[in-house]
Amino acid sequence: MSPVTERAWKNVLKNPPSPEDLKNAFEKVSHAFELNGNDARFMQDYDLAEGSESQIDELLVEMPGGNTIKKNSDHFLKRDSVKKMCFPCCATALFTLQTNAPAGGQGHRTSLRGGGPLTTLVKGNNLWETIWLNILEEGDFKNLGDIEKSDLVNIFPWLGPTNTSEKNQKVTSSDVNPKQMFWGMPRRIRINFDALETGTCEICGKESHDLVTGYISKNYGINYEGGWRHVLTPHTEDKRGILPVHLNPGGISYRHWLGLIQNDGEGGKQPAFIVNKFLDRHYKFNLLNEVFNRNPALWAFGYDFDNMKARCWYESQMPLIIVNEYIRAEYENVISQLIKSADVIAGNTRSCIKEALFRYSNNVKGDLSFIDSKFWKDTEPEFYRTLNELHGLLAKGENTVELKLSWLKSLAKTSSKLFDEYSQSEFIGTADPKRISLARRDLAKYNSPKGQKLKTILGLPIENSTKR
Ligand SMILES: [Zn+2]
Repeated sequence: MSPVTERAWKNVLKNPPSPEDLKNAFEKVSHAFELNGNDARFMQDYDLAEGSESQIDELLVEMPGGNTIKKNSDHFLKRDSVKKMCFPCCATALFTLQTNAPAGGQGHRTSLRGGGPLTTLVKGNNLWETIWLNILEEGDFKNLGDIEKSDLVNIFPWLGPTNTSEKNQKVTSSDVNPKQMFWGMPRRIRINFDALETGTCEICGKESHDLVTGYISKNYGINYEGGWRHVLTPHTEDKRGILPVHLNPGGISYRHWLGLIQNDGEGGKQPAFIVNKFLDRHYKFNLLNEVFNRNPALWAFGYDFDNMKARCWYESQMPLIIVNEYIRAEYENVISQLIKSADVIAGNTRSCIKEALFRYSNNVKGDLSFIDSKFWKDTEPEFYRTLNELHGLLAKGENTVELKLSWLKSLAKTSSKLFDEYSQSEFIGTADPKRISLARRDLAKYNSPKGQKLKTILGLPIENSTKR
């Protein structure tokens, strides 16, 4: 239902289609969404007749894999706890796996955006707004692949035989329709519908006569590479090309603002196409005043995979604060300074805690990322408060030096608080008081607003630098 023009897009945002219109649109493609059809089946290989057999729970990316079971370490998610699934749960699991597919051993391809991509949506005030805010115009797809390839099989790959990849053959966005980005199918799977069981679905608890228990699969499915640029995912551009962003431990917070909401400039991180599109649409149609009564949010989510193991599912929302076009450049510039200074202080905090705890801190390899997570989380309310104030100052054409200094002060305060918490409380008895106090002194020095590094990052005046 992609609209043809920007104006048509805006009209539909304000006047949603009727249930009949939606039904007519969906009916045209409903044959692609048959889970157990005779020919094409939703997100399943077209003609796979044999393959290795799996229990149905292997569709779930968080269930323990072979290695975990062998080592008997399936602690929170137990093996064999999901042996039967109803059709809706099975379809959802298939969609989730094909859309996020992590590495899965030889020839088991990852998703079109690699294992565990980060997705960002613009979130409106209700379901309709959220859907339509993330719909592009037809013309937007022109630069994303070959839109001449308009047969449905080029969008829903399961409608025809799979482009397999035994010889590492690739499928790029110009080999098919770019809209396949929403329906990628890297894994060759066929659910077994011959032996349905009666009982309770072990995912949702529904009673059913149609519970599936297993499937067959084969490696060397579609190998998506080259030129794909998913419109709902931020990307990083460097000498390797344009790569989709993946999640890392620690989750999503304002530390990711640069790259999720605004370009970070030198780092090459770019927000998803849809985020820039939203801003363009806003500035063109004054959406905020005409349609919304408050700022929409950016809704970011995805799996954090360690190879094929799902470590975590992260989900977070950030306000998409919209400012007048004439202060936008400066507003974004200061935000970038605020975040970069927080990044420096987060690093100081982590390294000084390490220095306090370990005599040979350079050799310490343990994971201290929880300190970073806590730092970003604890400073987040102050960040949004500062943005609000910044907006007001710039709108009035006022100076932002005081604001930046007070931001630094608040970061340094959180930093010392975390230092005290982690350097002492848990290690009474083993701690070395002298080392701790030296590390604390270092931290104060590194976080000082007088330091050249922080001043440069924040664009603060550097005075007295020649005085002795
Ligand atoms: Zn179910």
